[in-house]
Amino acid sequence: MSSEAPKRVAVVGGGILGVSTAVHLLREGGSVILLTEGRLASEASGRSLSWLNSAGERSTPYHQLRLAGVERYRTLFAADPSREWLQFDGGVMWNAVGHGEETSARHAYEKSIGYDSKLLAPEEIGRIVPGVDSSSVPENAIFNGGEGWVSLPHLLEHLMEEFHELGGELVLNAGKVSVLSSEGRATGVVLPSGETYDADAVLVACGAATPSVVAPLGVEIPNGSPVSMLVITKPVEHSLESVLNTPRAAVRPNPGSTLALDHDWYKEHITEYSDGTFGIPDEVVQELADEASKLIAGNPELKPASWKIGYKPIPGDGEPVLGELDAVSGCFVAFTHSGATLALIVGELLAGEILTGDKHPMLATFRPGRFSQGFSRS
Ligand SMILES: Cc1cc2nc3c(=O)[nH]c(=O)nc-3n(C[C@H](O)[C@H](O)[C@H](O)COP(=O)(O)OP(=O)(O)OC[C@H]3O[C@@H](n4cnc5c(N)ncnc54)[C@H](O)[C@@H]3O)c2cc1C
Repeated sequence: MSSEAPKRVAVVGGGILGVSTAVHLLREGGSVILLTEGRLASEASGRSLSWLNSAGERSTPYHQLRLAGVERYRTLFAADPSREWLQFDGGVMWNAVGHGEETSARHAYEKSIGYDSKLLAPEEIGRIVPGVDSSSVPENAIFNGGEGWVSLPHLLEHLMEEFHELGGELVLNAGKVSVLSSEGRATGVVLPSGETYDADAVLVACGAATPSVVAPLGVEIPNGSPVSMLVITKPVEHSLESVLNTPRAAVRPNPGSTLALDHDWYKEHITEYSDGTFGIPDEVVQELADEASKLIAGNPELKPASWKIGYKPIPGDGEPVLGELDAVSGCFVAFTHSGATLALIVGELLAGEILTGDKHPMLATFRPGRFSQGFSRS
């Protein structure tokens, strides 16, 4: 940092993007106040499959950012491979019966860009990937050996230890915080109670609520966030190590011999109530658990222990929205799909931008200014 006094940054949102950026800011000498509506990890970061990957096809800058994201997790993993909440045992995907050609085409694309991808026959999956019932694999499957998974609530707890050690200030149960600005520059934040906090810069990392938090500033960010659910099973004996993405269930190991499950086929069974909460019939949750059981060697009975439903943050055009607002200098946003994969790298790059003012080239195509009609500063 060039200035004498540490830059004071208000980070709004206690999900993984807010917490990661807050810790990176503190590491670089910033002064941070982190404010969140309720408790930490109360939204998407508390109910995420958190498969760490850049599988499939997407824009080159997004792929590169995700690869850097996975690399940061590998560094964290290497520091202590025994952590039960961060593991790198690869990912497996397959399509429905009769769609083997799509799987082959995806593999060919992944190979063409140097992504670690192996196309395997069902019997090879059974041999190479522990814990999978190979009879559930149709004609072929892809094994991406470089992928991993993380439990975000555990990562968040890990990062918060450092946050407190480095002197970060935390405000829980703040309610819906708003950004204050004057003459086109962010000046701090205000709580529904009327309490205000001055800041040199503000980061809005409010997940699916990010577009509505910046809207009063005259900034439009299209929101494509769907409703989604994550189920955690009761403890079960299994030897699954990889993440599975299959036509009827996505499954990953989870601390405490449990499994984390998600998918989207049951979306129409989810009801949103007027108080903002969600419901789904128990039978549908059990059906997802039954689908997951078919994928696991020995087909153990899976019993849902908890399930959480809410919005999965996804910008309207599917690409991350990261960086400073054109309309309000000093106000930054972090709003993205795959925020688990991106959390560490985005926190690092945004913290650098907030403290130094230097725009990082890897974020060039993700600026919020792309949605505005006028010119963009980046
Ligand atoms: C079911 C599911 C599966 C997923 N699978 C994957 C995956 O496999 N791989 C992957 O990389 N990513 C995955 N994701 C995405 C990833 O989990 C999210 O991108 C990430 O957790 C988002 O973190 P966040 O910090 O942006 O938002 P959140 O975790 O939603 O946190 C936002 C926080 O801001 C707070 N807030 C909102 N408005 C305000 C306000 N006005 N004032 C104060 N606080 C406010 C909220 O209370 C919340 O605590 C998945 C997500 C879901 C839900």
